Amino acid sequence: MSKQILILAGDGIGPEIVTAAEKVLTAVNHKFNLNLDWEHGLLGGAAIDQYGEPYPKETSDQAKKADAILLGAVGGPKWDQIERSIRPERGLLKIRSELNLFANLRPAILYPQLASASSLKPEIVAGLDILIVRELTGGIYFGQPRGIRELENGEKQGYNTDVYSESEIKRIAKVAFDLASLRGGKVCSVDKANVLEVTELWKQTVSQEHAENYSNIQLSHMYVDNAAMQLVRAPKQFDVIVTGNLFGDILSDEAAMLTGSIGMLPSASLDENGKGMYEPCHGSAPDIAGKDIANPLATILSVAMMLRYTFKEEAAAKAIEEAVGTVLDQGLRTADIYSEGMKKVGTAAMGEAVVNAL
Ligand code: NAD
Repeated sequence: MSKQILILAGDGIGPEIVTAAEKVLTAVNHKFNLNLDWEHGLLGGAAIDQYGEPYPKETSDQAKKADAILLGAVGGPKWDQIERSIRPERGLLKIRSELNLFANLRPAILYPQLASASSLKPEIVAGLDILIVRELTGGIYFGQPRGIRELENGEKQGYNTDVYSESEIKRIAKVAFDLASLRGGKVCSVDKANVLEVTELWKQTVSQEHAENYSNIQLSHMYVDNAAMQLVRAPKQFDVIVTGNLFGDILSDEAAMLTGSIGMLPSASLDENGKGMYEPCHGSAPDIAGKDIANPLATILSVAMMLRYTFKEEAAAKAIEEAVGTVLDQGLRTADIYSEGMKKVGTAAMGEAVVNAL
């Protein structure tokens, strides 16, 4: 039986970058006989326009039966004024939580060809290869109670709840330790245990899991403010970083920028059985949508992650990553990673070049 992928192009540059990635998927499926099959669905603004909600039942049914999902990005100014509970980004939170995609993997890898695109000195970032493991379905983004209330004196007050149970911490720690054992063997757990009780429990639980089952891995702990600083001071000290939803959101964007362009970075969000949603780290970039200038490489590299983590097709995953290296060696650059002397290409042409390199 073929393995099923659901493709959700989403909004803004989503359809352009996903079209490029789909061509790569077609090529790699054929070349490696992967027996992958896929269909398309709607998420975010595109779903609001058709069904009035960002994650309609139709998409939910498709997502549940798929083995993996490839997402472009959602959101844009067109839907910024509608009621908060049905905005495009809520669709994203809903699909992550409905499918229990609790582990978000965000690699920050600097391709040597792009060292000059980083805002840091080449000697500080050259060869950078960090993996940030962010807890994705808990913490302050989902904690109840939440809202904006009116106090007795008539003043408004906003409030959210940061909450993690031991089991939630344990399962994300396991993911980080397991991945570290396949890489550099080091995990740094990031918290704010000096101030927040929820992260005090985080630190204790990660340490306990380490002591009980992963003594072969080198574990360290770091406060989030220091981690933010260390990421720009000496990023290569890290191998795997594991942290909660809020800190992970911020640190992974910071790590992304170390590599020069957010247009280069893929991500995976996995459940306990390896089912996953794969998407670029960036958003829908409405400012450049429809112009054929967006960088499709993050989405193409997300396909490589899908082949590696859900379908266990390491050779095919590597082939895509090597093909991306080849097009960079050829000097091809989209506008976001362009530097003098290189050849500027558009979204579609970049996708075609990766297919040819494959
Ligand atoms: P963004 O990532 O869309 O864009 C930030 C900047 O990076 C923009 O200047 C954009 O042009 C550029 N950029 C992003 N991707 C690029 C690519 N592939 N190639 C070249 N340049 C690229 O973030 P934003 O502007 O804060 O948000 C825009 C919309 O995207 C908002 O509606 C936001 O809610 C949504 N968003 C969605 C996701 C997601 O779907 N996972 C994530 C973040 C933001």
